[in-house]
Amino acid sequence: MTNSPVHVIGGGLAGSEAAWQIAEAGVSVVLHEMRPVRGTEAHQSDRLAELVCSNSFRADDWAGNAVGLLHAEMRRLGSLILACGDACQVPAGGALAVDREGFAQAVTDRLSAHPRVQVVREEVAGLPPSEWDSVVVATGPLTSPALAQAVLGLTGEDQLAFFDAIAPIVHFESIDMDIAWRQSRYDKEGPGGEAAAYINCPMDKAQYDAFVDALLAGPKTEFKEWENVPYFDGCLPIEVMAERGRETLRHGPMKPVGLTNAHRPQEKAHAVVQLRQDNALGTLWNMVGFQTKLKHGAQTEVFRTIPGLEKAVFARLGGLHRNTFLNSPRLLDRQLRLKAMPRLRFAGQVTGVEGYVESAAVGLLAGRFAAAERLGRPLDPPPPTTALGALIGHITGGHLDGGKGSFQPMNINYGLLPPLEPPKHGADGRRIGAKERGRAKKRLMGERALADLDAWSAVRTPEPAE
Ligand SMILES: Cc1cc2nc3c(=O)[nH]c(=O)nc-3n(C[C@H](O)[C@H](O)[C@H](O)COP(=O)(O)OP(=O)(O)OC[C@H]3O[C@@H](n4cnc5c(N)ncnc54)[C@H](O)[C@@H]3O)c2cc1C
Repeated sequence: MTNSPVHVIGGGLAGSEAAWQIAEAGVSVVLHEMRPVRGTEAHQSDRLAELVCSNSFRADDWAGNAVGLLHAEMRRLGSLILACGDACQVPAGGALAVDREGFAQAVTDRLSAHPRVQVVREEVAGLPPSEWDSVVVATGPLTSPALAQAVLGLTGEDQLAFFDAIAPIVHFESIDMDIAWRQSRYDKEGPGGEAAAYINCPMDKAQYDAFVDALLAGPKTEFKEWENVPYFDGCLPIEVMAERGRETLRHGPMKPVGLTNAHRPQEKAHAVVQLRQDNALGTLWNMVGFQTKLKHGAQTEVFRTIPGLEKAVFARLGGLHRNTFLNSPRLLDRQLRLKAMPRLRFAGQVTGVEGYVESAAVGLLAGRFAAAERLGRPLDPPPPTTALGALIGHITGGHLDGGKGSFQPMNINYGLLPPLEPPKHGADGRRIGAKERGRAKKRLMGERALADLDAWSAVRTPEPAE
């Protein structure tokens, strides 16, 4: 154990939370934030934890919403971001929305006033000096180019992305398997011997034509000028492929060859949409090749015209953004340390989570891990049944590697937690309807998460012997 401080690079949502957790654990911390010395394309001020776009932390209901559950867990662990969010609330129905400037000012004031926190306004423009033996890198989606290049040097070219190309992800239980079927193209076995790895949704010609028309007509989000997002031929948005010709999708991600409809073997599909398992639990499936810039409302509408997905519940919708993030499942250990250089720990959006709350949540864990390591009391990650444990599980192991570029940023959602079966009948013997069961399931998952989190946070590893 040493007395030297932990260094946190980046005073955004994740870095501010990490610094707070480290300081509250009794360890000194130096927080390096480059603003206002150097700005980003999105930040406007020199405040810590600035919200660059919406002022909402989304739904605040622990019993009915996964991000609400994450709020509840973070509050229990003394989150600075949640405490300042609660103190600066503005009316927003069931959501936790905040006064943007008041919130960032509150975070700045509380960190600046903490006796164990030193805030330094400077860019860390390369690998942190070797005498910084414990570092949390929380530099976000707009990490400064000099630091990004240095990280790239450690990870290799294809392990740090500068853009995301997100395909929608669907909850397995919402796919109609009376229409869809499982099969790999040409029944080809994968490395694990699985010959039915994909879920296939068939389309006839009329359905395909209507789908292409809807893609072309649907409203798209525009890139901001500074984003300068390039299109790579390997991951073009589907609507751009559709613009290149009516048949392009049928010869690309929607090709029907090598597949036989298990429900109607005589019928040859005109096109097939494939979904690939996205997480080890098998609860989430991504739509293969369906990265898109369609607006979210249009995505839901258009993708629900696909046979088998009429009632699809989306864990995540598609998008393309400027975003710096690591291939974390390959690069980071369960303590969020870079395997290639364990003195560097990563936190926030750069680890492949998406959103203010998720970024702060990973900052909270990185801060606790760094402090525990410094104090010589190693800390296990929270259990996978908690929202915090599910998030860290996803970025460090739960995601299935589907090849280059398959790991994409993710919001917290129930599909990342182990499923749980709610009772089919109430205490009075009455059969419970599907909607009510869905609500009961979320509440039970919330109760399980909070109980497991309390048990986890109550465990104290003994002080190391002197
Ligand atoms: C344009 C845009 C809009 C977004 N809108 C939303 C939204 O509406 N809702 C939502 O939930 N999420 C949104 N996100 C996604 C994401 O949740 C936020 O970007 C979030 O702020 C990420 O938290 P973070 O702590 O990882 O990064 P940030 O909050 O961006 O913090 C990173 C900090 O590191 C600093 N920094 C960078 N490089 C260095 C360096 N080399 N040395 C020192 N400091 C450095 C930056 O100045 C910044 O303060 C958006 C992202 C972008 C890019």
